[in-house]
Amino acid sequence: MEWWLSIPKVELHAHLNGSIRNSTLLELARELGEKGTIVFSDFEHVIRKNDRTLCEVFKLFDLIHVVTTDHKTITRITKEVVEDFAAENVVYLELRTTPKRNDSIGMSKRSYMEAVVDGLRSVSSSNLDINFSCDDLEKFSKYQTKKKIIVRLLLSIDRRESTASAMETVNLALEMKDMGVVGIDLSGNPTVGEWETFFPALKFAKEQGLSVTLHCGEVPNSVEIQAMLDFLPGRIGHACCFQDEEWRKLKSYKIPVEICLTSNIRTETISSMDVHHFADLYKENHPIVLCTDDSGVFSTILSNEYALVSSAFGLGKMELFELARKGVDFIFAGNEVKMELMKVYESAARTLD
Ligand code: 5GP
Repeated sequence: MEWWLSIPKVELHAHLNGSIRNSTLLELARELGEKGTIVFSDFEHVIRKNDRTLCEVFKLFDLIHVVTTDHKTITRITKEVVEDFAAENVVYLELRTTPKRNDSIGMSKRSYMEAVVDGLRSVSSSNLDINFSCDDLEKFSKYQTKKKIIVRLLLSIDRRESTASAMETVNLALEMKDMGVVGIDLSGNPTVGEWETFFPALKFAKEQGLSVTLHCGEVPNSVEIQAMLDFLPGRIGHACCFQDEEWRKLKSYKIPVEICLTSNIRTETISSMDVHHFADLYKENHPIVLCTDDSGVFSTILSNEYALVSSAFGLGKMELFELARKGVDFIFAGNEVKMELMKVYESAARTLD
């Protein structure tokens, strides 16, 4: 595993609440159990279960949200998630989260996101430097002594939301561009909601210069998959249940795919590694990037996803390094950030063994 840990990596598909440390989740649940808000043993049983279908995963998220959704906790988990990615040499992280409103605790979508940004602000420590705003990039690139991570944010629209609520999220993303927000994600239970509901907000996002990534083809739904591909998103996640016509479209449009191997296998959206579409897309030189999806929920780390590709598909170190480096081409941050990351990869290439 050490080699995978040591190479610089970009993570483009990580959900904040899916990437929480198990220890933090259990600690928070225990506290709520002591207050009588939840029954801790029930919660612990669900968290410790390893294999879950896609539907069970969404039930788990509802449970996680009960435990995590207050400002202080959102700030804490954001800090921890960034530190965990930095610890395994993720040099650029696009962290996505669904802004949540909870009137009973005075939480608006905006105050939720401000709590996330507070978490980013609290990351800098004696051995780690973070950059999450373009303004500070020049200063950030000067320091060479500490480990460094660049973080940008994507605001997720949950498929349970209405058009108005999706539009509110897009407007918030536009207001928060100077706080590191670079795009919009569409996620949530793929068996819920209609593409037409989200389309106006996603179209508006694109028109306003935000990048868009879509969870696409997690369940068979040809009409939706084709509409999503015709929308020409900046990237899509998963692409597990595609038919021939959809593969043809995806490849001709050259839309980059965020590949989440462990997640796909654990949720049984792909039956086994030997039939995973990674092999075909890699062979055809289609743009792909390895990602974790939910490192906490699926007990993985990004380095592990690279190790998996090596063992399942026989890629060597140089090929994997190249795969990691190419991820830079698909980030939603601008050219300044890309150039900064290119320097990181050039310097790492000189020390490759
Ligand atoms: P959050 O947005 O609360 O930070 O992260 C958890 C949320 O991300 C979930 O409630 C769900 O909406 C979304 N999510 C996490 N993993 C997946 C996945 O594998 N597929 C889809 N469609 N959505 C996911």
